[in-house]
Amino acid sequence: MGAALLAFAAAVPAATLIHAGRLIDGVSDTARTQQTVVVEGGKITAIEAGYRAPGAGDRVIDLRQGTLLPGLFDMHVHLSSEYNKNTEISRFKLNEADYAIDSVVYAERTLLSGFTSVRDLGDEMRETLALRNAINAGKVPGPRIIAAGKSIATTGGHADPTNGWARKFPADPTPADGVINSVEEAREAVRQRYKEGSDTIKITATGGVLSIAKSGSNPQFTEEEVRAIVSTARDYGFKVAAHAHGTEGIKRAVRGGVDTIEHGTFLDDEGIKLMKERGTWLVPTLSAGRWVYEQGMKPDYFPAIVRPKALAVGPQIQQTFAKAYKAGVKIMFGTDTGVNPHGTNGGEFRLMVEGGMPAMEAIKAATSVPAKFLDLDDRTGSIAVDKLGELVGVPGDPLSDIGVMERVVFVMKDDTVYKAP
Ligand SMILES: [Zn+2]
Repeated sequence: MGAALLAFAAAVPAATLIHAGRLIDGVSDTARTQQTVVVEGGKITAIEAGYRAPGAGDRVIDLRQGTLLPGLFDMHVHLSSEYNKNTEISRFKLNEADYAIDSVVYAERTLLSGFTSVRDLGDEMRETLALRNAINAGKVPGPRIIAAGKSIATTGGHADPTNGWARKFPADPTPADGVINSVEEAREAVRQRYKEGSDTIKITATGGVLSIAKSGSNPQFTEEEVRAIVSTARDYGFKVAAHAHGTEGIKRAVRGGVDTIEHGTFLDDEGIKLMKERGTWLVPTLSAGRWVYEQGMKPDYFPAIVRPKALAVGPQIQQTFAKAYKAGVKIMFGTDTGVNPHGTNGGEFRLMVEGGMPAMEAIKAATSVPAKFLDLDDRTGSIAVDKLGELVGVPGDPLSDIGVMERVVFVMKDDTVYKAP
């Protein structure tokens, strides 16, 4: 891969012509057939019917047997870690540098699976902010990252980095470490994220599956604390994402004004009604639900305190997604990859379609819809003249076989072809 990448990057052609058997532009409801998309200087300069013959020095990407799509968005990833059996003990053995180097590997894997933009919803040591900066500077390959930095939690809550530690370890994290216990501290934690260079705010409104704590769904913020987070976030132009499994915590987060509910596992009818009234988005993370359930079925994979939570939450996520979609809750594509392995993000499409969402709508939920949410739609999220050449190709037709979204064969970003058929 390294050698191929260098070869592509070294020879800068006049234009890249992509011959697409099928083109899904991310906005319209129908696909076009037999199109040429022209990319020059990193931007789409023409979209034409038929296959344009290359001029001298032009590069041709032959995707006549496949489908061209806009670069994909995953609205919930964790690029600096990947859960495994040793995760808890690794926390005492790994240094910042280990996480940083891992994140470079996972970022490339994510890009090569077709995701050219991601929202990273939580790290521990600002490593995803450094990763974002390195990718933006062209130092390492990876997706555009909208990074939360450290998630904001409460004491003992999901994303308190010291849960389960013995007394002899220092375990009194502060708002600077992303742990708050009052309205004042909530404000301080948001301002700290601004100081560190975060792009968005993530809170853990309820218990979670993988933390060393008993409940996967109890409410862990007061509504006043959520409101303080959201109102302070607005001062700095931040949107707020809330991890939330439990019914009560979801409602407090929605009433408190957050923009997205992550997971939404035990969302009830009142919660659905509230989300629709407030225009709150659901980011379902079906991939993570499926993955924790599969590992939970193995007797020894998870710590004993985690296993029952994995078995309860995992299967419920997809049922709730189906219900929420049917009820008209707004949905954006997000996986929670870093729970499930990096590079498998595309499997979420199949789970969304299984949950009742038509393939074209699932594709929009991963392209034009998140681009608009993140105010990036003037640049990306659709295939149109003057948009950036952030493009992805899959074999076959995702509208008849959504599984092809897991087999990306072409990736272009920053005028560089990272993967070609
Ligand atoms: Zn997450």
